[in-house]
Amino acid sequence: MEHFNHIGGMDVPAHSGATLEHIRPSTGQPDARLPRSDVRDVQHAVEAASAAQRAWADRPATERADLCDAIADQLDKRIDEFAALESNDTGKPLTLARNMDISRAIANFRFFAGAVRHDETGAHEMHGAINFTLRRPIGVVGLITPWNLPLYLLSWKVAPAIAMGNAVIAKPSELTPATATALAGIFREVGAPPGVFNLVHGLGGEAGQAIVDHPQIKAISFTGGTATGARVAASAAPVFKKLSLELGGKNATLVFSDADLDAALDGAVRAGFTNQGEICLCGSRVLVERSIYERFTAAFIDRVRALRVGEPSEPSTQVGALISEGHREKVRGFLALAVSEGGTVHGGGVPNRPGWFMEPAVITGLSPTCRTATEEIFGPVVTIHPFDSEVEALAIANGVRYGLSASVWTSDLSRAHRMSVALEVGMVWVNTWLLRDLRVPFGGVKDSGVGREGGRHSLEFFSESRNVCFRWR
Ligand code: NAD
Repeated sequence: MEHFNHIGGMDVPAHSGATLEHIRPSTGQPDARLPRSDVRDVQHAVEAASAAQRAWADRPATERADLCDAIADQLDKRIDEFAALESNDTGKPLTLARNMDISRAIANFRFFAGAVRHDETGAHEMHGAINFTLRRPIGVVGLITPWNLPLYLLSWKVAPAIAMGNAVIAKPSELTPATATALAGIFREVGAPPGVFNLVHGLGGEAGQAIVDHPQIKAISFTGGTATGARVAASAAPVFKKLSLELGGKNATLVFSDADLDAALDGAVRAGFTNQGEICLCGSRVLVERSIYERFTAAFIDRVRALRVGEPSEPSTQVGALISEGHREKVRGFLALAVSEGGTVHGGGVPNRPGWFMEPAVITGLSPTCRTATEEIFGPVVTIHPFDSEVEALAIANGVRYGLSASVWTSDLSRAHRMSVALEVGMVWVNTWLLRDLRVPFGGVKDSGVGREGGRHSLEFFSESRNVCFRWR
């Protein structure tokens, strides 16, 4: 398979002609090539986007919403094809790609079509004058996304950006180009004005950095690692670019002795290992009240051992391949580190088959302050720790540099409220995990990011509010 950039409505190779090889995680074999774009390709995309943007912004919001709905309709018709592309590129189970990734991408386009149709802005009356707020698009915006939820996260940015009247330049991860290429095809099929959606494939340090540096790209919505986010912020700050940063996490699942234990076990396993643990929101630290620690841990390890690791296309597979050989090495490096830090590793073996598979691992016996328990691993690895009190549970949960999400399992309503207030995170789930409403603010605190996306927060990010003051008396 050969991927192309999509610029001004045309599929084009990189200006230099250079390409990158894509390796399929479930086989370890090359299966596609993609353009290795550089600053010239980004310049070309900026010219195409700038040429299209004003006319696009002048279209009625209802028309922009109709385009988002048309894209959702096409994705819906081709959900199986897109799910197969996503599963091939990432190694994730096909059923997960279909039921989570592509379903959610469809929902994103539909949601933001509705959001922009029903958007409203404020008016502030004075004595003899009135202020009202206009929302204007930003212009050309850059969207940079990671490999773990490729179309899910790209659509989370593309839909509100174009619905608000911007033209976009998207750079998906070089490890997962396929659904972005296919999405470009859908933009063409539904008759989107050329230049509204531009796609530039390539490496982060080349194509990505060129997007961040380009003076005509006025806003960057970035989702990825915290170290990369810091580089993006350092480049964007001196030119006052608008920035949204959705970064890493080391999220806690807190289980109190009064919780429904069966539900908590299910929830903690799902939070730990969905998508091979490669979701920023995964609960990679499970904190359990000491009175139930032994019982809970034994049952947790049993359930994790029962997870089926295997061929992503098999409907029964629950854990697929990791994204790359290098990433699997990094994740397994943490298992060795955990042993050196005094932990006991349950699972974590490498199945005897091609591809970057790995059995899920649970680590017991670690201090909650050691590196394994505080650094983001981003793989199928969970550490589990006892606590004696709410105060201690909070100290452990908050004792990391990250602050993305947490899930709390308890039947005590007052405790759930106390924890929701005291946890230093952007999102708290109580007796559930990853239950998503697209209207709510999404984002992290501390080193997990800056800003919020979701619902009106996305519409606000992808626009500038302008106050107009009319004196009438
Ligand atoms: P990454 O930071 O390596 O890459 C993310 C994107 O940035 C890729 O497209 C990459 O090519 C690009 N990039 C790399 N260097 C760049 C540069 N100098 N300038 C511009 N772009 C550059 O992250 P990854 O390994 O693809 O994804 C995993 C990370 O993403 C994890 O840390 C995970 O927690 C995080 N993540 C966060 C969220 C969230 O919503 N908070 C969601 C998903 C993933």
